[in-house]
Amino acid sequence: MKNRLYLRFASFILCVFLIGACQSVGDHEVATASLETAKLPSLSGKKVLLVYGGWPGHKPALFAEIASELLRKEGAEVTLSDTVEIYANEEVMSQMDLIVQSVTMDKITKEQIKGLVKAVKGGTGFAGAHGGFCDSFRNNTEYQFMTGAQFVAHPGGQIEYTVNITGTDDPVTKGIKDFQTKTEQYYLHVDPNIKVLATCTYTGEHAEWIDGAIMPVVWKKYHGDGRIFCVALGHNPEEFYAEEAQQLLMNGLRWASGSKYEDKEEWLSPVMYQ
Ligand SMILES: [Zn+2]
Repeated sequence: MKNRLYLRFASFILCVFLIGACQSVGDHEVATASLETAKLPSLSGKKVLLVYGGWPGHKPALFAEIASELLRKEGAEVTLSDTVEIYANEEVMSQMDLIVQSVTMDKITKEQIKGLVKAVKGGTGFAGAHGGFCDSFRNNTEYQFMTGAQFVAHPGGQIEYTVNITGTDDPVTKGIKDFQTKTEQYYLHVDPNIKVLATCTYTGEHAEWIDGAIMPVVWKKYHGDGRIFCVALGHNPEEFYAEEAQQLLMNGLRWASGSKYEDKEEWLSPVMYQ
């Protein structure tokens, strides 16, 4: 009898211990998940317009294929357009949460830039990579006023360099480690009102007067109420198959998709020098 009682008591203690252990594991999982979703907006159900075209050397159709697949995997509703004419379509533009663009150089008409700027100022996010975003419509300063930086050179062509994550407290780049890449090292004319999230440093090998210059590689900003995001990597869109580059791109797209739904982030101006 004593033994039975002892066994029952031991089983009871064991059960209490196991239930406690299970609960603490469960709590931990829930807490982590909610913390993650609180950091960046979800792309699920978001309406995304992916516009591609321009200089074929940047393989805009391949970028559109890779980006649309990644966006759809996250549950976004993606509309593809191979022409910037869609920017003049007010009905389409007013429905979008995010515009992702890969159009290097090329031209934009007054009507088209007017439509794009109106949507972005009104809270549609606008994002992209490399020349498809920060080297589009070279003759249009209204466009350049929006993007945060404009490509001017890539000394040495495709070279190896390190991407340094500087925005370690920002949800877009938090947890991503510095990494090596081989692509064009974009030299940019930079808007001082951007929040720089990653940088690279030039050697003097291809232009000795820029030795040691630090340049943004990833940044975010606002234009009106619209969230703007750019990653300067991606001369070849296949670079976004690599883990870090893909994380940077997708986190940026998640962040930029939230302008219509999330509070505006308050930054000191300019934030570039913090
Ligand atoms: Zn390029």
